[in-house]
Amino acid sequence: MKIIVANWKMNGTVAFADRFIEEINLVDSKNLAVVCPPAALIGRFRDFRYKIGAQNCFSENEGAFTGENSPKLLKEIGCEYVIVGHSERRAIFGETDESVFKKWKAAIENRLTPIVCVGEKANERENWREILSGQLKLFLNETLSETIFAYEPVWSIGTGVIPTKESIETVFEFLKELLGNQTRLLYGGSVNSQNAEQILNCKNVSGLLIGGASLKIDEFKKIMEMKR
Ligand code: PEP
Repeated sequence: MKIIVANWKMNGTVAFADRFIEEINLVDSKNLAVVCPPAALIGRFRDFRYKIGAQNCFSENEGAFTGENSPKLLKEIGCEYVIVGHSERRAIFGETDESVFKKWKAAIENRLTPIVCVGEKANERENWREILSGQLKLFLNETLSETIFAYEPVWSIGTGVIPTKESIETVFEFLKELLGNQTRLLYGGSVNSQNAEQILNCKNVSGLLIGGASLKIDEFKKIMEMKR
């Protein structure tokens, strides 16, 4: 069984969500599918057959934090997963390794499974070991059995460019050594139904985090249905 996570980012409408739910509910997949729609659409997923996640949460459960999403409330409305530290949140919203770590902690305390994103930018490709170690430093003394990590090279997100099988396996071996053998690791960056199988076959890859292709229902179905 593989973990297949859909990150819709700030896309989708009520009508699209309803159609997606109707069609995906007909898919009989042995994989663990997690759909992360925009927070405003989560309520539409009440009768969804698979799992729901949020794309972000705040590090506090309540208080004067206008516009933020409480991990406690996300849990209450049916989320079981939450993405934290996506590269777009780091780049556009100024999230740091410290703020990502606080969100991870809040997610764990609320029994949400955090999906922590890490990855190097295009100009950091040669130093990926240092970049990933830096992004993960705060996690190294923690219990990580309930955490999923997603390796998403920033240069691969939305670009159609994916790393070779060899480089995915090199990075994932490094991450397993750093984070422990029990940790589940996803790959994210330009995954589609053409390349998904090849990536899922890479050693130590437990699943995929999918952006653009998760908004194409037929594409997402094909990936969900891949036999493991
Ligand atoms: C993402 O945003 O996490 C992502 C992997 O996007 P895409 O699949 O579109 O590259």
